Amino acid sequence: MPFSENKLVVAIFVAGLAGIICGWFFGPVMLAVAWLGDLFLDALKMMIIPLIVGAVISGVTSLGDIRKLGKVGSVTLLYYASTTACAVLIGLIVVNIIQPGNGISYQVPLISESITDRNSVGITELVQSLISPNIISAASNTQLLPIIVFCLLFGAALTTIGEKKSAMINFFDNLNEVMMKLVMWVMVFAPVGIFCLVAGQFGKVGGGAAITNELVAVGGYFFTVIIGLTCHFLLLFIILIFLSKRGREYLFKLLRALLTAFGTASSSATLPLTMKCSLEAGVDKRSVKFVLPIGATINMDGTALYEAVAVMFIAQAYGITMGMGEQVIIFITATLAAIGAAGIPQAGLVTMLIVLNAVNMPTEGIGLILAVDWLLDRFRTTVNVWGDSVGAAVVESYLPIEITQK
Ligand code: ASP
Repeated sequence: MPFSENKLVVAIFVAGLAGIICGWFFGPVMLAVAWLGDLFLDALKMMIIPLIVGAVISGVTSLGDIRKLGKVGSVTLLYYASTTACAVLIGLIVVNIIQPGNGISYQVPLISESITDRNSVGITELVQSLISPNIISAASNTQLLPIIVFCLLFGAALTTIGEKKSAMINFFDNLNEVMMKLVMWVMVFAPVGIFCLVAGQFGKVGGGAAITNELVAVGGYFFTVIIGLTCHFLLLFIILIFLSKRGREYLFKLLRALLTAFGTASSSATLPLTMKCSLEAGVDKRSVKFVLPIGATINMDGTALYEAVAVMFIAQAYGITMGMGEQVIIFITATLAAIGAAGIPQAGLVTMLIVLNAVNMPTEGIGLILAVDWLLDRFRTTVNVWGDSVGAAVVESYLPIEITQK
């Protein structure tokens, strides 16, 4: 590899910073490089489906038998559900203390129909999205949840067919290895890709002056979300220290993935790097293959926190009081809405309709927070990916010891 790991971290960091500075000062001029960023993003997306198929099936079969899958699956889901709930709680606490929406003068801008039209998103749709009648079309639309469910079932069934299974298991193990190799190659282009993605996006919204205007309008809300996300990031770090055998060096190892999450605003597109970094950090392969693909699809701590803050902010701006009962509803629905959000840019904005509808809030309220959403998306995606990575490290400690690692 032409870059050492440390140099690559520094290069990605500098590239992200340079992207912000160039996009800020040169504005729309930087749109000229956006296509290179999209190319990098496409290279990452290209790997998602084969990577997930190889990783999840090989991860499940490496657990041995279905009963062990159940145990590891329960720990994984318990970790994801409880950290997401903690994130919503932190969001609610911070927004109740700061009250960013009180007394702001607002003008609700027009919001695109693609957002308001999605009123039908509900709990039933969330459950239905677990199964797709056509796995090929799900793959071609990058609907990861039904793919993962299929691979979990496929892997579980594969462990039960006796001697014949080994050729097929080898195939998926090897597929996973090959995909990891490809990730390593693509990672070398991350500095250029991140620079172009960030500079292009900052340029697209009009550069520094336009961003400053947006921040002045809803700065209180923006910083409330940032404070909440920072608190949750630290909480996850504490969880990492207490519930896994890892610490600071794990955060450092994951930096490439976290910076890519910031650059792409997509936890699915970042998944290949998250897996690669966790493996390099020495996390058990079984945990990486099993926990991370599920996490990138359903575990969105940052999104959950942001949805709770956003809905409370909109209520405050409209002068609607949210009592204890409503906040409990926000707590439950924001957790579910975050699980339902896809790991793609601004997916959380759409699933937030579930929360708004649940507490009878006007959906146009989303217009209030639209302008800064692209920027907050990058921060919350970073926290989403950090949550997944800590999950892999925590679940690793609960893997059955009697199984020999592959
Ligand atoms: N962009 C986020 C992610 O990919 C989802 C969201 O909050 O919109 O994790």
